[in-house]
Amino acid sequence: MNFMVPSTTPAATALLSPGRQALDSALFQLDQAADRLHLDDGMRTMLATPRRSLTVAVPVRREDGRMDVVQGFRVQHNTTRGPAKGGIRFHPSTDIHEVTALAMWMTWKCALVGIPYGGAKGGVSVDPATMTPGELERVTRRYVNEILPIIGPDKDIPAPDVGTNEQTMAWIMDTYSVNAGYSVPGVVTGKPLALGGSLGRAGATSRGVQISALKALPGSPEGRTVAVQGFGKVGALAARYLADAGCRVVAVSDVTGAVINHSGLDIEDLQTWVKETGGVYGYRHADALSHEDLLELDVDVLVPAALEGVITAENAPKVRARLIVEGANGPTTPEADQILTDAGTTVVPDILANAGGVIVSYLEWVQNLQAFSWSENEINTKLRELMENSFDAVTAMSAEHGVTLRQAAHLIGVGRVAEVHRLRGLHP
Ligand code: NAD
Repeated sequence: MNFMVPSTTPAATALLSPGRQALDSALFQLDQAADRLHLDDGMRTMLATPRRSLTVAVPVRREDGRMDVVQGFRVQHNTTRGPAKGGIRFHPSTDIHEVTALAMWMTWKCALVGIPYGGAKGGVSVDPATMTPGELERVTRRYVNEILPIIGPDKDIPAPDVGTNEQTMAWIMDTYSVNAGYSVPGVVTGKPLALGGSLGRAGATSRGVQISALKALPGSPEGRTVAVQGFGKVGALAARYLADAGCRVVAVSDVTGAVINHSGLDIEDLQTWVKETGGVYGYRHADALSHEDLLELDVDVLVPAALEGVITAENAPKVRARLIVEGANGPTTPEADQILTDAGTTVVPDILANAGGVIVSYLEWVQNLQAFSWSENEINTKLRELMENSFDAVTAMSAEHGVTLRQAAHLIGVGRVAEVHRLRGLHP
């Protein structure tokens, strides 16, 4: 086998960049699934190796006239089941390893929920919080120009991720369309409604998190306590939908800080505060909390919805939540996973829990290709059906093989991709 195996000692792991740690986690999970599926070395290497990896230089003109050059990436991990699909991240620490890990998880996720896509991810190493709207537009358009040859509605369809939003998708759609000479709405998903976006897309990932949490919670959700790490696109609406279902969301955090109110936070009011002030820090109807303490609260449900590698061998023994529903991609390291499993904590894994986003992205793309639209009710019904069916398949696989939900989800996802490779055969 010629792909790198995960670093196994905590000391070795600590020396790796967060992106490299994420890739190690993804490769470890693949390896575990490949063992159980009895995949041969050739197939393992094929599944561990990205189909296409592009690193580009993105020059950007700053408002003061200076020119910066940042790095951009697009990785298409697998395209065997269909066009590549995955978000674009704007974050200062994004690197090729992180983007590769995220692309690999997209491949298994799309296969797991049964939508006809491969997996991809993109990233630009910028901090959007420090950029003006003009700088953001220029960096987006230039990045898209650089990756233009490999994206398109039949090839690779980007979407929002950390640090990007509907406006970013609008600029991508416009840049691609100007180059094509006509409007191509199907090149991205997560667009504004007016440009061919789908009803229900903005809340889709969070709705999927809510559906997963309610399926995994034994008994009624009424009064169950919840903590959410990351109050962005996924976390804020996950908090809101869980509160709508009767849960008591007691604590949330974002990059500015963490806040707690044991009687339950008013999520809508907190969203307004965040809009006005830029973050949860200082919210008047709650007390301050440290970022670390939020992860260790004695709650029924913990929803990590920020970045990778936040639940580690170090803090996992202190995690007291009975159920973890991974809104973020890769928030739990393999070492932490083992500790949580031994402690009897249920973890609904990322490739299942946050699949609502790509499910409705798929529905958006289908609407764009066919030039028609579904109602919000139709979208939410299809989303629920796919999420619930996938959840049931994962729990059945977990029970049948005596494995965790993450291992079961990977068995299904990796197994389906391997099967399609076998059926298609190897060219030439
Ligand atoms: P976002 O940029 O909208 O939000 C990220 C949030 O995390 C922000 O509130 C930020 O302040 C917060 N954050 C960053 N570092 C933090 C820290 N150390 N502690 C606490 N909070 C911190 O991004 P998003 O789209 O909500 O994505 C969040 C996660 O969900 C990512 O892992 C992403 O890959 C995953 N995801 C997103 C989607 C989607 O549709 N947007 C779909 C599937 C998975």
